[in-house]
Amino acid sequence: AKKSMDEKICFYEANMDEASRARRAMARDIWTALERGEFFLNYQIQRAVSCDEITGYEVLLRWQHPVQGLIPPAVFIPVAEECGAIGAIGDWVLEHACREAAQWNLQPRIAVNLSALQLSNAGLVEKVRSVLAATGLPPQRLELEVTETAIIADRERALYLLQQLKAMGVTIAMDDFGSGYSSLETLRSFPFDKIKLDRSFISELETSQQAKAFVRAILALGHSLNVAVLAEGVETEAQRAILEQEGCQEGQGYLFGRPALLSALGELAQAVPPH
Ligand code: C2E
Ligand code: CA
Ligand code: CA
Ligand code: CA
Repeated sequence: AKKSMDEKICFYEANMDEASRARRAMARDIWTALERGEFFLNYQIQRAVSCDEITGYEVLLRWQHPVQGLIPPAVFIPVAEECGAIGAIGDWVLEHACREAAQWNLQPRIAVNLSALQLSNAGLVEKVRSVLAATGLPPQRLELEVTETAIIADRERALYLLQQLKAMGVTIAMDDFGSGYSSLETLRSFPFDKIKLDRSFISELETSQQAKAFVRAILALGHSLNVAVLAEGVETEAQRAILEQEGCQEGQGYLFGRPALLSALGELAQAVPPH
């Protein structure tokens, strides 16, 4: 038994080595990916739940790795955060998305995700200001999505930065609300214009009375705080119908459209391609 336990530990350590080697390799590749133009953006439609009015487009980062192919952001963003590359990548996303949104006349707005590192960097406000000036995108057409985990790192600074961005005319959405550490305290003290209800509630909407009760309560909270509520991960018509019945106004998910290149969103996007 002793021997087999040792073997297991060896096996485990060998795998750990391999995993951390893979992370180191990925961290190295991330730094060159920007220069080599391996990142690109997808857009996913956000729309009214009860009609086909478009309310926005979430910008989702993609990495086409030359050897490993398409790597999902859930895999490479944590590595980019760990190795510090997320700052440069976040800047690239912001610049690229605002430029495309201006060129394609995306209405009424785009929504860009911010990482923890961006939200603890005092340069964020000036960065957003200069990107808007350079691209000509009006601030009202930019929404920034932040998660509770992203503001935990430096709460005071995050609050200060978000207040300044809001004063500029940019809107702020609380992402993944109801998952992880999201708290009512954050909702109370941060200047959110929108709550994005986490996908986990929506996927249980048809089967769980509890999920439905939470959705109902968060919608009531949103209404009384005058904060918009958007349901994430709407996949079925049944979910859409329940959301409509509950008075949820906005949704996003595969039912309405998958993330895609702007050029592939086509007529659905009501966007005007640049000539
Ligand atoms: P998120 O911000 O919660 O983005 C929504 C994710 O849900 C996207 O995954 C989207 O493709 C997926 N999704 C949309 N509709 C549905 C649906 O109906 N069903 C299901 N099952 N999934 C749906 P994606 O693109 O893989 O992004 C994963 C996460 O990576 C994002 O979660 C976000 O946290 C992060 N991320 C993506 N782009 C950026 C970026 O530019 N900057 C930063 N900091 N994070 C990003
Ligand atoms: Ca998001
Ligand atoms: Ca989300
Ligand atoms: Ca998420």
